Formats: sequence, structure tokens, C-alpha cells
Amino acid sequence: MSSADRNPDFAPRYMSVFLLPCPCCGGHADVQEAKRQDPPFSYAVWFVECRKCGLRTKDFPSGGYYGLHGTPGNAAAEWNRRAAT
Ligand SMILES: [Zn+2]
Repeated sequence: MSSADRNPDFAPRYMSVFLLPCPCCGGHADVQEAKRQDPPFSYAVWFVECRKCGLRTKDFPSGGYYGLHGTPGNAAAEWNRRAAT
């Protein structure tokens, strides 16, 4: 199976997103994915964090947890909104 046959749900997970410099220190920020524990469950979240000072957005739970379907784009939009103000 070629990479083109991958489940489209997974293809955009690490799509590149445009992120403004950190509003706090001007550092470079990245979209990150993490697992949060809510025993007996765990769920994935997306957020953006500054590499330099650690400033970060809130978590955007994905996969329908809390009825939410967060994406890297949601986290990027939140980051850019803060960075622009
Ligand atoms: Zn920073």
C-alpha cells in the first residue's frame, strides 16, 4: 500500500500550519500533540507551544472527546489570534 492510500483522517495530522512568532518572547512555536489522562480514558489534544519560553494555548481535544474534534488548525488559529493582539 502506497502512502497515497493512507486513511485520509491521518494524512493532515502533521500538515504544516502557519504560526506567528511568540507574542511573549518572539520565539518559534510548534503545533504539538499530547495524550491527556482522564481515567479510565485517555484522549489526544492539540496545542501550540513556544520552544523558548513555553507559552502555550489551551488544549484542543480531538477524536470526539467532550464532543470536540480539535485539529492542529484550531490550535494554530488560537495561537495566531493571541500573537496578533
Ligand atoms: Zn515565547
